[in-house]
Amino acid sequence: MVWGVGVSQKGSVLHWKILIGLLCGVLWGLIAPSVGLDAWTTHWISPIGDLFVRFLKLIAIPLVMTSLVLGMTSVDDRSQLAGMGFRTAGFYLLTTALAILVGLAVASWVQPGTALPADLREELSTRYEIQTGMDGAVDSNLENRSWMQFIADLVPENMMSALGANDQMLQVVLLALLFGLGLLQLPTATVRPVTDLFKAVQDVLTLFVSWIMQIAPYGVFALMAHVLVEISGDGEDRVWSVLAGLSWYAGTVVAAMGIHIFVVYWGLYRGIVQKSFRGMLQTIRPAILLGFSTSSSVATLPVTLDCVERGLGIAPRISRFVLPVGTTINMDGTSIYQAVSALFIAQALGMDLTLMQQGTILFTALLASIGSAGVPGAGVVMLVVVLESIQVPVEGIALILGLERILDMVRTALNVTGDAVVASLVSATENEQAETVISDV
Ligand code: ASP
Repeated sequence: MVWGVGVSQKGSVLHWKILIGLLCGVLWGLIAPSVGLDAWTTHWISPIGDLFVRFLKLIAIPLVMTSLVLGMTSVDDRSQLAGMGFRTAGFYLLTTALAILVGLAVASWVQPGTALPADLREELSTRYEIQTGMDGAVDSNLENRSWMQFIADLVPENMMSALGANDQMLQVVLLALLFGLGLLQLPTATVRPVTDLFKAVQDVLTLFVSWIMQIAPYGVFALMAHVLVEISGDGEDRVWSVLAGLSWYAGTVVAAMGIHIFVVYWGLYRGIVQKSFRGMLQTIRPAILLGFSTSSSVATLPVTLDCVERGLGIAPRISRFVLPVGTTINMDGTSIYQAVSALFIAQALGMDLTLMQQGTILFTALLASIGSAGVPGAGVVMLVVVLESIQVPVEGIALILGLERILDMVRTALNVTGDAVVASLVSATENEQAETVISDV
């Protein structure tokens, strides 16, 4: 097994390289427009970031498939697998529900929507009108989709097409779970060729990861330069005035995320894992930084797996089950963003949300977190569903689109952190279970 060659083995070096790449990218992005290099950056630097993300995405689906199937088949005892499955789902649901509650509480307290000046509200709505499709054409597919249809859509019509789209990762997960269950039902000797093939594929993918990570600092540099040049394309003055107008909103999102990390995660981690939370965050820094710069938890998965296994010492049979599932269904950053955004939009439009409507946000944002793909921009698309469920005009999304790119980066970093925290929680409770079994014998 060659998992982790060069990722967390030289993790701290890699982390510094990525950080330097990120800072240089920010500097470049800030300076380039003022020296007339913005178009050059778009044509020649942005594609490097694109190349890096494409390489990561290239291996995402086979990695999820092989990790999940091997994760399941490597557990000898079926009841142990069921136990791990329940604990994983339980922790994911718990942390996401708490994330939404934190988001709702902070946004109700801060009331960021009331701080938005009327003229800016007007301007933002008109500016982003075209993107959201003011005439009610905002992703009509999503609006008209019932939850029952959502469940039906989980089952791919065709195995090959399910394996062909990164944004349909839930279908891939379902397929992998079914496949893993199928393999578990058959005699080990019969399925050995298949599991051996999966193992070999996974080893090759692992090697790919170590190659891809060699270019990570340059990729991150290019991604950051691109984002900043794109933002300043609107004119520097405009950027600052929009940022100032939306600062309460962005501040509320970030504050709620901070509370979630340093209260909820800290509490659960210290209580259950009983190790240094700070140390854990430091160990998974490469994954957090990569989540931040790629805005995709799916693309970050290879690195998250590596940090968790080699850095935190979590057994691959646990991480390879928990993380691919988490990347697909656990989005605490996205949930906080959706809860705060829904309240912000309602407040800005002068609507008071009842407790019942806030309960509906809890429920729909929880399902939206499961339904959002770990790709850039998925969270804002699912926000449509949340707003629809509480009868807040979907067009209100126009108000927050100016900050979407940057908030996507922040929420993805939190999504990745949440997956690693839950992997640690599951691992700690698994060990406890194993110890109980041993002491019972
Ligand atoms: N970009 C996020 C992720 O990949 C999903 C989102 O848009 O919120 O985790």
